[in-house]
Amino acid sequence: MPAMRPRTPPDDVLERLTAHCRESGMKVTPQRIAVYRAVAGSCAHPTPDEVFHEVRADMPSLSLATVYKTFDCLVELGLIARVANDGSTHRYDANLEPHHHLVCGSCDSITDFTDAGLSRLRLPRNLDGFAPEKVSVQVIGTCEDCQDDLR
Ligand SMILES: [Zn+2]
Ligand SMILES: [Zn+2]
Repeated sequence: MPAMRPRTPPDDVLERLTAHCRESGMKVTPQRIAVYRAVAGSCAHPTPDEVFHEVRADMPSLSLATVYKTFDCLVELGLIARVANDGSTHRYDANLEPHHHLVCGSCDSITDFTDAGLSRLRLPRNLDGFAPEKVSVQVIGTCEDCQDDLR
């Protein structure tokens, strides 16, 4: 079973956002709080569209364009990261600890997992001039729920 990471408690979210904003001289806005809270409170690697629909219920004046801008800002603040995927929609992760992803080809779910062996993976020395930053393995397959549906 993949180890599920605990969701970030709401107090930590605000504290972390405030600290990062202060460091970068940016304002803590209600939009930034709401969007970061939504991403940090989810293990599902949500898209800006999904977060928009979730947050809009409490913040009817919020626009999708603002949500996109807020995502860019949170990436810049180092609070969330874009999950590399080959689709056209970008998904985001508030879990910045080294980890890997289980990607379901049926429902597009992305689940975090950690594995000491994979994290020690040694890269080949010659990467054709590419400068590596981190290694995150994507395991493509079928999640438990989708396997149940097939039975
Ligand atoms: Zn699935
Ligand atoms: Zn992740």
